[in-house]
Order: sequence, then C-alpha cells, then structure tokens
Amino acid sequence: MAARDFGKMGINTQLAHAGNVPGDYFGFVNPPVVHGSTVLFPDAATMAARAQKYTYGTRGTPTTDALAEAMNTLEGSTGTIIVPSGLAAVTVPLLAFLSAGDHALIVDSVYGPTRLFANTMLKRLGIEVEYYDPNIGAGIAALMRANTRVVFTESPGSNTFEIQDVPAIAKVAREAGAVVMMDNTWATPLYFKPLDHGVDVSIHAATKYPAGHSDVLLGTVSANKECWPRLHEAFLALGCCAGPDDVYQVLRGLRTMGVRLEHHRKSALDIARWLETQPGVARVLHPALESHPGHKLWKRDFCGSSGIFSIVLAGGGQKHAHAFLDALQIFGLGYSWGGFESLAVHVYLGDRTITGGSYEGPLIRLQIGLEDVDDIKADIARGLKAAAAV
Ligand SMILES: *Cc1c(COP(=O)(O)O)cnc(C)c1O
Repeated sequence: MAARDFGKMGINTQLAHAGNVPGDYFGFVNPPVVHGSTVLFPDAATMAARAQKYTYGTRGTPTTDALAEAMNTLEGSTGTIIVPSGLAAVTVPLLAFLSAGDHALIVDSVYGPTRLFANTMLKRLGIEVEYYDPNIGAGIAALMRANTRVVFTESPGSNTFEIQDVPAIAKVAREAGAVVMMDNTWATPLYFKPLDHGVDVSIHAATKYPAGHSDVLLGTVSANKECWPRLHEAFLALGCCAGPDDVYQVLRGLRTMGVRLEHHRKSALDIARWLETQPGVARVLHPALESHPGHKLWKRDFCGSSGIFSIVLAGGGQKHAHAFLDALQIFGLGYSWGGFESLAVHVYLGDRTITGGSYEGPLIRLQIGLEDVDDIKADIARGLKAAAAV
C-alpha cells in the first residue's frame, strides 16, 4: 500500500485512518495496547545514548504515539501529549508556560475546575491570575501587560456558551508575546481547529466526545511548532502519563466520533429549536441558534455544533430546577458529557466574577445523547411541567 498523507484529506477520512500504520504491526488495523514501564536496550552503548525510539514507559509507547499522531493530524499540530484527564490537559500546559511573576489572562466563562486550579495552585506559585470577559475580542489589548505570558480561551464558555472572537484575541496576545491556549473540548477538532485561528496550544478533555462512552478519563494537549518543545519538556518533567488501555479506548472512539457527533449535533439542534417555543423556557443558550448573541462569530469560525447547551427557565429558583431534574426519566443527573446518554445538571455560576449573569431563572445544562429525539423531548416536557407545578 502506498504512503498516505491523511492531513490533506477530509475529516472523516482522517478520523478513520490517522495515527497508526498497520504495516508496523504485521498488518493489524489497530496498534497494540502496550503495557510497559521498562524498555530493554540491545547493548550498553545504545542505552547510554538512549539511541532508540522508545526508552521508558512514561516517555511514550506505540499506543500513545498512535493517538498523539491522530491528534496531530486532526489539529494540525506539531506534537501532542496525552495525560490522564481533561483537567490534567489544562493544568500541564499552564504549568509548562507560567512562572512566578507572570500574569495570566483567563476567560471568565472557563471550565470551573480550571478556575479552581488557577485560583489555588497558580496563585500559590506566584502567578497573577486575571479573568476577562468572553466578549472582549480585540479589546483584550487593554489588559495585556509586559509580563502577560498566557491568554487562556475556551469557546463556547462552559455552561453559559459565550462565543469568543478567538482569532482577534489570539492576534493581540501573540503580538504581545503571550502564548494562546484554548480548551477546545466542546467543538472537538471536527468543528473547530484552534491552530488555524492563531491559537498555540489546543486542549481536549478526550473524556468527552473522543471517548464517547462515559467510561474513560483522558486528556490531550496539541501544540504548534513554537510551543511543542516546552510543552513536551513539562510533560516529561511532571510524569503525568496515561494508562495504555484508556489511550487505546480513545483512539478507538475517534474512529466513530464523526458519525456520533453528527447525530449529537442534529438531535441537540432540533431539541434546542423546539425548546425555544416551549412555555417555561426563557432562553436557550446554543450558539447555532440565530437568537444566540455569539451566533455570527460561531458561524464565521466553527463548522458545526456539538450536543451540549443550556436552557434558562422562565423564573423560579432552586426548587424549580430540582423539580425539573427530579421529573426526568431518560436524562441522568451527573457531571461530564460527550457520552452516548443524555445528562442534565443545574448550573452553578457562583464563582464567576464577570459572567455570573442576570438570567431570568435557573440555568439547566443538557447533554443530548444518542436516544430518539421524540423520547428526549417528552422527557424534557415532563421536567418543564414539574417545574411549572412548583
Ligand atoms: C470535562 C471538561 C474538562 C475536564 O475533563 P476531565 O477528563 O473530566 O477531567 C476540561 N475542560 C472542559 C471544557 C470540560 O468540559
């Protein structure tokens, strides 16, 4: 078979083939799941020079290389590290690029645990953390300082789904010498490719759509040529490596992510449009809806929408939110998302400093799973009826 350059092919072709070379493993379509700490060297000279591809389990295996290569193809990156959770995929690059005395700008609508890490560990390490408005765009210039080393973006924002003008922010930040990071978990590389929009480091909770079955925790961090050496160095220094079975499961998940995500996308958008017409719903926060304040930006930069969005109930408080959630039969009440099943959660915004928002009522986040749309709608209708009856 001739050598193939999947990077130039369509995204579904990339998902089906990128990352491993069957010829390397006797023709088997999938790479082996390599369980290994020690790697043997043929002789002392090779050992002293570490002159072979694999030298120790923490530094990479054929299994981790297959997933890293697949992510490089999908993200257009130079290198990818694989870490044990999506949260580690956030913390490792922040530790890689920030030092005492640096200033970090983090979007206010960031994933909650990222904020907790910044407010505790980064501050303790002597890094000044400042949150900025997700709608800031090129206005971020006013917040840049001589010591601003990292600008962290996440679009859409966690739970509240604000769309950031990532290209505008990245342009300003890079001209000022800062590294631009993006948590790209919502879109996956199918619907947004951060490095094509000026971002240096793209982060994924592979726990979500790449794994797709609520049974694996994993994170990936992909960097451009400039940032790869430092990211890789931090990865090796921290010893934050993932187990081979989980890495393999995510590579397996990537093969079907295109079809799964397309189903999530269609169902979620159908349900979001329907929800806009339902009594008891004040607003639907889904960037692919024309009513969304970030819709134009989303349309300009993204090529799809995934299966998670929020609704704002028309008035009421925690009692109404709990009545809604407790009436659900299909939706599970649980954190995380990206699996095959629908999930709902009452969103907490108490730690936000800018985007805590003046919402008409409680915010409920919905992950739309692969169930039949009519059943999901009937379930949400049960919740709305219960909330209305409080
Ligand atoms: C879930 C999530 C993470 C963390 O992933 P885990 O694997 O659960 O640690 C990071 N960022 C975003 C945007 C997420 O939704």
